[in-house]
Amino acid sequence: MRLLVVEDDPILLRQLRERLGTEGYAVDAAIDGTEAAFLGSNEPYDAIVLDLGLPRRDGLSVLRSWREEGLSIPVLILTARDHWHDKVLGIDAGADDYLAKPFHMEELLARLRALIRRARGHASSELRAGPVVLDTRTGTVTTDGQPLDLTGYEFRVLSYLMHHAGEVVSRTELTEHVYAQDFDRDSNTIEVFIGRLRKKLGGDLIKTVRGLGYRLEIPPDDAP
Ligand code: CA
Repeated sequence: MRLLVVEDDPILLRQLRERLGTEGYAVDAAIDGTEAAFLGSNEPYDAIVLDLGLPRRDGLSVLRSWREEGLSIPVLILTARDHWHDKVLGIDAGADDYLAKPFHMEELLARLRALIRRARGHASSELRAGPVVLDTRTGTVTTDGQPLDLTGYEFRVLSYLMHHAGEVVSRTELTEHVYAQDFDRDSNTIEVFIGRLRKKLGGDLIKTVRGLGYRLEIPPDDAP
């Protein structure tokens, strides 16, 4: 899952990047409204954290222009503590959730997980495909109840496929959601991650769809 974090406070931005990185997200950062507007419109994020008070262009106007363009990515806004009115304006402008500063990192993480899940139509925080269960709260994966040891990138690939279970996901799409923008991307390594995941997961849960990409199969008894 790949996030855009927009925050002009360098200390908070660093904390957010570090923590979200440890939680397994690929994170791009923007420090002003103009850069944010550009990245949000051009890169395929899974969610955006948007501070409202920004230099060059304020967060509300950025959010409004995204929604006018038809961008439906979940957006969580950060508001100043005493500016309750900003929350109302933010939600009216198309924010999906908000947090007032200062906030607890754990709360931000929980809200982001919920936003990403709901955007994909998942009500539960546990994603399931046959014997494989991914707990989005703890970032752990089990097969038949046994914990699975995955590297950060293997987790990101599996998490993206599980959020999109039953759909064909192209290699390019996976690449775009697994790596941050400044990373030297190589779509061939996606194949390597898929190979390792197949070995670790056993069975043939991840299908190759010739010429199109990959699909994580939903076994019949798990279908909604
Ligand atoms: Ca600010």
